[in-house]
Amino acid sequence: MDFSIDYNTPSPTPLTTYEKETPAEQLKCELTPEEAYDIQRDRWLSLQTALRENLNRDKDSRYVTNLQEEIARMISNGFTYKPKPEPVKAVPAPAPAPKPFEQASLREELGVPEKVSCENCGENIVPGNASHLRDLDGETCILDEARIKRSGRFTKERLAELVALTESVRKNLKKENGN
Ligand SMILES: [Zn+2]
Repeated sequence: MDFSIDYNTPSPTPLTTYEKETPAEQLKCELTPEEAYDIQRDRWLSLQTALRENLNRDKDSRYVTNLQEEIARMISNGFTYKPKPEPVKAVPAPAPAPKPFEQASLREELGVPEKVSCENCGENIVPGNASHLRDLDGETCILDEARIKRSGRFTKERLAELVALTESVRKNLKKENGN
């Protein structure tokens, strides 16, 4: 039989975990031997420093005696001083490998424009020139007849010849591409 009546009261607050917390004594025991030794060493060093200072000031003082007693107690408890190990230096990361030589970046650096395909013969040429020497036949490929004419590099007849030759190369290229 169940005689409990639900009055809709709030449930009691849960018990605190205070009692379960690890006491300070217990925490000490969880130190690794290295950590425990570090504490001992720090204590030893501070005792030695204090002793040195007070010996200079008043070697017969009660404080000096106390320090000497404390040091003697540590020794009798088996403490022997070992200097702190040098921290292991992190190995420096290797320098990044030098970038492989990049033709493009050098070209940009020197301000050399990227070559383009000639509209007449399809050969790779530096853009912006009025003409270029064709590898195909060693003749001058005319890109801008007016500019070449103004430069006076060729006689009227020779220029007309070169323009005609360029035109025929252009037609042949078109035919080739058409196939
Ligand atoms: Zn060309």
